[in-house]
Amino acid sequence: MKATLHNHTIHSDGTKTIKEINDLAIKNNFDVVAITDHDTLDGYYDILELDTPVRFIIGVEMSTVHKNKNVHVLGYFPTVNENVIKFFQNMRKERIDRCKKMIYNLRKYENIDITFEEVSKLASGSIGRPHIAKVISEKFGITSSEVFDKYIGNDSKSYVSVGKIETEDGVKFLKDNGAIVSLAHPIQIKGFDFEEILDYGFDAIEVYHPDQDDEYSNMLRKVAKKHKLIVTGGSDYHGNNHSSVFEKSFIEDKDLDVFLEKFDELKKINKKIK
Ligand code: AMP
Ligand code: ZN
Ligand code: FE
Ligand code: FE
Repeated sequence: MKATLHNHTIHSDGTKTIKEINDLAIKNNFDVVAITDHDTLDGYYDILELDTPVRFIIGVEMSTVHKNKNVHVLGYFPTVNENVIKFFQNMRKERIDRCKKMIYNLRKYENIDITFEEVSKLASGSIGRPHIAKVISEKFGITSSEVFDKYIGNDSKSYVSVGKIETEDGVKFLKDNGAIVSLAHPIQIKGFDFEEILDYGFDAIEVYHPDQDDEYSNMLRKVAKKHKLIVTGGSDYHGNNHSSVFEKSFIEDKDLDVFLEKFDELKKINKKIK
């Protein structure tokens, strides 16, 4: 059994629909696939309508901050309640405000003139930096990755974080709403040691991710063991946006059993609480 637990769709900055992801899952023999768009659960409704042998799980990649640095937290929901849906609908508004602030900053600091309309036209869901990057890339003839490096990276002058939710509070919110919570791509965490946040209540850690080599994944497996965390993994698939490959990173066999056992156990508990 094989699972990929980190995928973006057109509901955030991915380019594929759930149907296209389902086709990829079948073609590559995946049994379990999680949808984890940035700060939105809109993919949930697509999953409900999908007719497929693949087990689809609704998740989210939540934007949080720790020590002023961007920390992505993955939540996987055995059950979905109104509270969570409303919370993330509100975050969508925060992302719109943040996008407008970044556009303002780009004009002020970099003399780059783009409009919110140009950016929002590209976003059918949760709006983010890749949409800004695409507009600048097309207008000024540079690649999206150059746009990130030069103008909108985490340490750029124009960068604005999405909301101000502390990682500790984000983890608590997801757990209070019955999710399995995993620390996304620790390799991307800069500015502090990621181990210092693991006792905020994380259930899991993303051990397999395309940004790293096997040595780094093996190191993360040891960290998972030390902190008694479940192992998750996935390709952080974004479709045609930055060269991600659907089937590259995954979990299988025993790791997947442990994840699904916890998922099904939470499902029972969540239903009782309701
Ligand atoms: P946001 O959540 O709006 O801050 O955007 C984060 C997303 O931007 C990530 O999930 C990636 O899809 C993309 N991204 C971040 N850094 C880079 C980079 N250096 N080059 C290309 N895409 C990036
Ligand atoms: Zn993304
Ligand atoms: Fe991320
Ligand atoms: Fe992601």
